[in-house]
Amino acid sequence: MNTRELINIEDKYGAHNYHPLDVILTRGEGIWVWDVEGKKYLDFLAAYSSVNQGHCHPRITKALTEQVQKLTITSRAFRNDQLAFLCKEVCELAGMEKMLPMNSGAEAVETAIKTVRKWGYTKKNVPLDKAEIITCAGNFHGRTTTIVGFSTDELYKKYFGPYPDGFVTVPFGDAAALEAAITDNTVAFMVEPIQAEGGVIIPPEGYLKQARDICTKHNVLLVFDEIQTGLGRCGKKFACQHENVQPDIFIMGKALSGGFYPVSAVVSSEEILGVFTPGEHGSTFAGNPLACAIAREAIRVLQEEKLIENSEKLGAYFSEKLRTIKSRHIKEVRARGLLIGVELHKAAGGARRFCEALMKEGLLCKETHEDTIRFAPPLVITRDEIDWAFERIEKILTTLN
Ligand SMILES: *Cc1c(COP(=O)(O)O)cnc(C)c1O
Repeated sequence: MNTRELINIEDKYGAHNYHPLDVILTRGEGIWVWDVEGKKYLDFLAAYSSVNQGHCHPRITKALTEQVQKLTITSRAFRNDQLAFLCKEVCELAGMEKMLPMNSGAEAVETAIKTVRKWGYTKKNVPLDKAEIITCAGNFHGRTTTIVGFSTDELYKKYFGPYPDGFVTVPFGDAAALEAAITDNTVAFMVEPIQAEGGVIIPPEGYLKQARDICTKHNVLLVFDEIQTGLGRCGKKFACQHENVQPDIFIMGKALSGGFYPVSAVVSSEEILGVFTPGEHGSTFAGNPLACAIAREAIRVLQEEKLIENSEKLGAYFSEKLRTIKSRHIKEVRARGLLIGVELHKAAGGARRFCEALMKEGLLCKETHEDTIRFAPPLVITRDEIDWAFERIEKILTTLN
């Protein structure tokens, strides 16, 4: 079936909760993907940073193939021989003591919310059901009904209420506002070190460090949602390492499985993750041996192939080049590693038509919010491939009216 026919069927039978570019992909390898017509594209979105390791990485494919023939799921009613290793390896990666596995990112965020609340009631003596969690304007933490309740984006939120209490919003990047919002009942401050979905918004220098100090001073847990920014995307293991800050809780997902399978995790200390007792929280698929085998190999690939270093080096190279483009459309280039946002002026008429034009040139990327194009290729990309992409990006940004 051709592209048009497949789009028609999907549009008829599928709910329209996305507005994808009209390309139907059927195969991927490294940074490249192919559509059903046989046309090849450079994937400059990497499934929102799920495939930092590149599409269908051979080592992860092998780990999956071997495990899938041995044992896929036990449920947590029984133990399996992969989970122990994954817990240990994720803790070592994050410099933490304990890990709780989940599947999707949103589930891990929900898990973090439950963790900090229970910590608040049992360790900080917050009166029952009065816990407050501070979040930031412009956040993106997922799509469950609780999470959209503290979104500040109408599109994500409106019509899905009523929303739970216990969330307070402060402006992103404003440490004084954070401190002012803390009360005796505040249990946590949950924040993305860089707001990726929000338009690749990088906070002012020192913000994460200030947040760390404020949280420590007031006995409030600092939670970094590094689902998108972590695992090398921003040129460090975790984006918060740009400021040498360690949170009390990391939330991880996306590239934790190299894009093969939904695997997420909440990673923290003995004191904090130790609040759970058997039966209080769980998920049928979480921590299954297939997921664990995949995630273990995905982490090894990231480290052994030096993808984090590559992200740092090529991110700097690429963003420098982007800043040389003389286009009246470009307002600002924001970058950390290979997470790059090119914000266009309002007069450019939105980023989407630029993404559509780039698609014709063989480059797949996606607008985030109205006016920002996000460039986030798999971290296995090379300098020559960046140059190849740059030529096309420069052409579109300078020739499109
Ligand atoms: C993608 C994302 C989530 C949600 O993850 P899902 O797997 O889509 O549920 C949460 N937080 C951040 C920062 C994300 O980028």
